[in-house]
Amino acid sequence: MTTMTRVYNFSAGPAVLPLPVLEEAQRDLVALPGVGMSVMEISHRSKTFEDILAKAIDNMREVASIPANYRILMLQGGASLQFSAVPMNLLTPGGVADYIDTGSWAVKAIEEANKVGKVNVAASTKADKYTRIPAQGELKLTPDAAYVHMTTNNTIEGTEWKAPPDVGSVPLVADASSDIFHGPIDVARFGLIYAGAQKNLGPSGVTLVIVREDLLARSTAALPTILNYKVMADNNSLYNTPNTFGIYILGLTMKWVKAQGGLAGIGTLNERKASKVYAEIDRSGFYRGTAQKDSRSVMNVTFRLATEELENLFVKESTAAGLDGLKGHRAVGGMRASLYNAFPEAGVDALVDFMKEFERKKG
Ligand SMILES: *Cc1c(COP(=O)(O)O)cnc(C)c1O
Repeated sequence: MTTMTRVYNFSAGPAVLPLPVLEEAQRDLVALPGVGMSVMEISHRSKTFEDILAKAIDNMREVASIPANYRILMLQGGASLQFSAVPMNLLTPGGVADYIDTGSWAVKAIEEANKVGKVNVAASTKADKYTRIPAQGELKLTPDAAYVHMTTNNTIEGTEWKAPPDVGSVPLVADASSDIFHGPIDVARFGLIYAGAQKNLGPSGVTLVIVREDLLARSTAALPTILNYKVMADNNSLYNTPNTFGIYILGLTMKWVKAQGGLAGIGTLNERKASKVYAEIDRSGFYRGTAQKDSRSVMNVTFRLATEELENLFVKESTAAGLDGLKGHRAVGGMRASLYNAFPEAGVDALVDFMKEFERKKG
């Protein structure tokens, strides 16, 4: 059906989508079965679209065991708009929000929160160039903070929390843009989880927010309506026109995740994929992993070579070999292999083979 050749896409985002998702979307693009119109051409208030939205949410709730007292919202503006929306909704007047600074995206979240209210940086690994996740004992938490904000996976630096920190009864807010549903998740540990869709869920333009119902009481009528979580929850994400096509693709992706054995199945596969690349990095010393071992990300594997010349050559030759998007973020340099849920294991094997061959030629 898909006649053109697909390369192995290591892009950090927007990123690879499951082939069956793309094929189903392609098949039904011109006319949804029984509807005779494209999903992009129908009202967001039609029964057809309401069913698409409901099914996406139901599948997500089932796959991630999201408790009934959490609302699932499909918003817009990306994770970057949530950097503002979170404090605007949850940082109560006179309150303090604790932020854990683990990398470039955390810094951006802190910058936006600072414009809204009082922020306490409870820990930072900046002095270690963000190569690690802080230990529980390093967190200087405010006892009655409005919330604690964390970044579950640091997309640029290649580090990831292995378990959420203990923050007592203070709501934990997570930017999970780059590792949402990469394996089993205990949603009840969080007050709010947000994620731009374009890494692990679907195309860009949809922002997932999973919020505990009691926190909606903090959203006051003074907020811009479009940023008000309570309004969005009361209107089931249909206060205004959502990204209907993006939600449709996200729904197909959730269906695909379910068919892969859910988050347990996906999690096992992701661990195996990442460990193959890390094993190759650790094998000879030709490659150097940039994250400390106990903080290594399962989603974004970052590594360097001895010189920038070698790195440029690695990027050039790997791209020519059909391994696309391995160049690291411009802020940190080096290489980054993003191995999101939809990235196939065969692509990991191809990367490891390429790494071995590159070392044989240049080592
Ligand atoms: C990609 C990313 C963002 C930015 O997402 P946008 O949807 O482009 O705003 C924020 N946080 C993390 C952790 C990311 O990986």
